[in-house]
Amino acid sequence: MSIQVTPTFEKVRQLLRQLPGLGHRSAERLALHLLVEKPQTLTPILEALQAASVAVKRCERCGSLAEAQHCEVCADPKRDPHSLCIVELVPDLFAIERSQAHRGTYHVLHGRLSPINGIGPEALNLASLEQRLKSEPINEIVLALGNDIEGEATCHYLRDCIFNIRSTIKVSRIGFGLPSGSGLTFADTATLRSALEGRRDVGN
Ligand SMILES: [Zn+2]
Repeated sequence: MSIQVTPTFEKVRQLLRQLPGLGHRSAERLALHLLVEKPQTLTPILEALQAASVAVKRCERCGSLAEAQHCEVCADPKRDPHSLCIVELVPDLFAIERSQAHRGTYHVLHGRLSPINGIGPEALNLASLEQRLKSEPINEIVLALGNDIEGEATCHYLRDCIFNIRSTIKVSRIGFGLPSGSGLTFADTATLRSALEGRRDVGN
């Protein structure tokens, strides 16, 4: 049962509820916290969001978060340019970085193939991947995608794209220590590390 609240509070609650990971109760708690319990936290959050919405963009090379042309990883000369790890989303990249199991660069797809939701290859960050395969000294690619049906389909598609451009590249897929369908983001560091170490060749 929905209780009566003020119209503007209701609007805030509705909008917060649309954010990932927030149900009705959490959205309500958050709105109350920001507006009534700790209103002093509201302005700094609004200002930070405003500033970030102008400053934060996609890295032109890999698609991760950047405030310059390239992200921190791409701008780091100590990263191995021969090894590339492909992930679905930016939080997956963060999770792998925390595990310290990959010293190369990344490529963020910003999604995965999902015909049922109308997401085809054109919706993914593939044009710059193609460009990188043609111009960078990459000799190993790790596909760090989820192990459910959509992750599987995306891996097959990527494998074909990669071998069409460079047939000699070594392509592997992370091992299956990960719980099915939960993605990389919520996997703990030890699980991710063993998933990367247990990667298996997908051949050509
Ligand atoms: Zn980058």
